[in-house]
Order: sequence, then C-alpha cells, then structure tokens
Amino acid sequence: VSSLSDLLGTVVAVQANFYQVRLDHSLNTYLLCTRRALLKKIGQKVMVGDRVIVEEPDYQDGRGAIAQVLPRKTELSRPPVANADQILLVFALASPPLEPWQLSRFLVKAESTTLEIGLCFNKLDLISPTERQEWQERLGKWGYNPSFISVMTNEGLEGLTDCLRGKITIFAGPSGVGKSSLINMLIPQVQQRVAKVSGKLKKGRHTTRHVELFELPQGGFIADTPGFNQPDLSCSPNELAYYFPEAREQLEKGYCQFNDCLHRGEPNCLVGDNWERYEHYLTLLEEAIIQQETQQQIG
Ligand code: GDP
Ligand code: ZN
Repeated sequence: VSSLSDLLGTVVAVQANFYQVRLDHSLNTYLLCTRRALLKKIGQKVMVGDRVIVEEPDYQDGRGAIAQVLPRKTELSRPPVANADQILLVFALASPPLEPWQLSRFLVKAESTTLEIGLCFNKLDLISPTERQEWQERLGKWGYNPSFISVMTNEGLEGLTDCLRGKITIFAGPSGVGKSSLINMLIPQVQQRVAKVSGKLKKGRHTTRHVELFELPQGGFIADTPGFNQPDLSCSPNELAYYFPEAREQLEKGYCQFNDCLHRGEPNCLVGDNWERYEHYLTLLEEAIIQQETQQQIG
C-alpha cells in the first residue's frame, strides 16, 4: 500500500513528452513518466525542478504518469528550471585569470533572477594567501562573500557541500574554471550514471535549452546548464542599479533627486561614482538602454 507522499517526486529531466522523475521516498528510484491527459487539457506544463505526484508507478519497467504539479516556489525561464533555491557562480582565481568584468556580468545576471547567489572561487592552490586576501576584500566591497576552494587539493569543499544540501542549485560560470571537475567531485560517477537519462531523453543534451538535475549524495540537486551563460542581459535600465549590491545599498537609504535617475552623473544622485564597479554599471546600462530601444521599435 502506498500513500500519496510515497509518490511525490522531483522532475530531473524533460524531453519531448517524457519526464524523468526522482521519487522522494524510494532509494534511487527514477521513473520515466508521461503527463496525464488532464494536465495537457488544462495547459499545465511540466518543468525540470517541478514537484509532482506520480500515479500508477510501474517499478518493474520504471514507468509512471504525472498526475499533478505542485505550485512552484520559483521559476526561471532561461534556463527553464522550477523551484531553484540558489545560483552558484564558479570562477577560477587563475588559469584562466579572473576577469572582474566577466565576473560582474555573471553576477548581474544572477542578481536579476532574485535567487540567492553563492560565489565560489576555485584553483585556490594556484594563488598566494596574499592574493586570496586581496580578492576577498575586493569582493567584500562589491557586496559578496566568496568561498575559496580547490578541487585539486579538496580545500574548502566541505563548506560548499553544506550549502548545497537539500537545495536545488544552478551552477554557472565560464568554461575552464573547473566546474566539471567540481561536479564530478560532488557527485560520484556511479550516481551520475543512474541519473543519466534513457535513450529517448538523450537527444539534444547539449543544446542551451536543455537542463538536467543531478542528485547530490547529501540530498538536493544541482543543475549544470550552459543556458545561464549566454551574454544577453534582459533587464530594464531602471532596475540595473539594484543588481549591484553596492549601489542597491545606497538606494535603500533614500532617494535620488530625480525619480527616474539612472545614476550616471545626475545632480544629487545617491549612488554616485565612488565605487569600483561604476564603469561596469555604465557599460551594462548602455546595453540595457539599447535593448529597451530595440524592443520599443519592434513593439
Ligand atoms: P570546466 O570547463 O569549468 O568544466 O573545467 P574543467 O573541470 O574541465 O577543468 C579545467 C581544467 O582545470 C582541468 O585541466 C582541471 O584539471 C583543472 N582544474 C580544476 N580544478 C582545479 C583546481 O582546483 N586547481 C587546479 N590547479 N586546476 C584545476
Ligand atoms: Zn541616482
């Protein structure tokens, strides 16, 4: 006899009309599911990360049907993931060298999702304690508290494991920083194979739209997706300053003289220009303005 909660699970992969669901209460049980006709009829979409109730599980064949989708806590469209708790940005301190401008871009994009943001600097083994200290102070001024790790020496991995426990975390970052090495370290190979989807789901694995969740041994999932790494920034010029913690902090204290202030030298602007990333802000602001104008022309 199974109760309803036995059949609660998380969608870990989607392809065409099939959904791979990890059931909560069974050890390592993944079912390949279809979507009940009623869900189709009401237009209920199923996304990776969705919490679902499965009916008629056939454990022998590993099949089932999704009967219900629970309300979403959060929803991202690019990448398409429901119920994500946080974004973990992974960068390297060296090899490739850390590019402040690139980091800024990823941070602003992450901020625009309103999810929690974690920042993780890998390859700690390649830099000196002094350099580490400098980065820590610099990022502190930006409003972040990065964790420093080395996949090579295992330093700092315990703390990282703790903050992933029980959550859905989206991993993002440029290539070459050690993201794959980190994921291989966090999730034993065996388990990755269990999570690997069947032939039907396999096609299109490497398109940007594709997302897949991988289960962590300590509970929780990670999504590794190239979708987040696209350079396009879709935010309006007015909201951009709120995606820089150091500017946001000022704006939370009061008001600029003009309520449509874009914080680029207007009189009595609270934000001002006395912060390291002001140049980054101005460049991204230009992009946001151009994007808005283009959209208005189309609209
Ligand atoms: P990805 O492109 O971000 O997935 O990066 P990979 O995981 O493929 O790693 C890129 C390179 O960095 C590989 O040669 C790794 O062996 C190396 N690497 C990963 N982590 C570390 C680290 O902590 N220290 C050092 N020195 N090299 C690392
Ligand atoms: Zn202002």
